[in-house]
Amino acid sequence: MIFDIHILGSGSAVPKLHRNPTSQYINVLERYILIDCAEGTQLQMQKYKVKPQRLQHIMISHLHGDHYLGLVGLLSSMHLNGRTKPINLYGPPALQKIVFDQLHYSKTTLAFDVHFTPLESKESELIFEDQCIEVYTIPLEHRVYCNGFLIREKDKPLRINKEVAMKMKVPVAWMHRIVKGEDWVKEDGSLIPNSDITLPPVPNRSYAYCSDTRYAESMLSIIQDATLLYHEATFLEDKLDRAKKTYHSTAKQAATIAAKANVSQLLLGHFSARYDTTEDFIKEATPIFSNVKAVEDGDKYSI
Ligand SMILES: [Zn+2]
Repeated sequence: MIFDIHILGSGSAVPKLHRNPTSQYINVLERYILIDCAEGTQLQMQKYKVKPQRLQHIMISHLHGDHYLGLVGLLSSMHLNGRTKPINLYGPPALQKIVFDQLHYSKTTLAFDVHFTPLESKESELIFEDQCIEVYTIPLEHRVYCNGFLIREKDKPLRINKEVAMKMKVPVAWMHRIVKGEDWVKEDGSLIPNSDITLPPVPNRSYAYCSDTRYAESMLSIIQDATLLYHEATFLEDKLDRAKKTYHSTAKQAATIAAKANVSQLLLGHFSARYDTTEDFIKEATPIFSNVKAVEDGDKYSI
């Protein structure tokens, strides 16, 4: 039951040797999703041993270069490496023109289809679902139109309490009805309440990615109770003015969002290149939300 987040880039704006700009590779129940694709993402994939050809979805939050300038290179390499399987691309409408103009002027015809979903709503919308997972946008507040993404498992069925079921000799033929919530009607007509035979479902896991954004309580209802929240913390509080001006957040603001949304764990990232270490980010966030980590390139988080 894999739900892994690989951090390929944890920085903002300008690449540094040990901190690439933003990209994350997610494996959720063997659905492979790339969120953002800064320049250098291909090399980060090689370095951290994740496979680009497995990707089924690429989701781009916004059109600042540190979130998408590696995309055309990645698509070109997939083509050169023999990909024929289609890929789903999601992002602001202009992304389609940006990608296809670059391919056009290099006379590149990809050997696979790119199914593009334009994102332009100011409301959260469901952009992908299958049997097991669903992905929603999280409208953010940035200088340009920007979305985060919420990836969550779908509701799971009730679990049979095996010990009780064996003792009561519940017929196998009834099991699929009981896990859907039905009471068990015995052959003699007597009724056994569903709650006597079942255990609650395994809780859904969810991952909320929120970058880039200023402090925005509008996201709270969408990310409420998430298992893991990644929230940008480009600055510390001493640069609050700069954060406001550039529509970014501080570590304290990210921690406040995590606390108000009642998430289980917080990851901070998208650090400004002016900071050499992340200790002060953790120091600033911890009094407000204690289960917090600062991400580094190459980190993997399993939820
Ligand atoms: Zn940005």
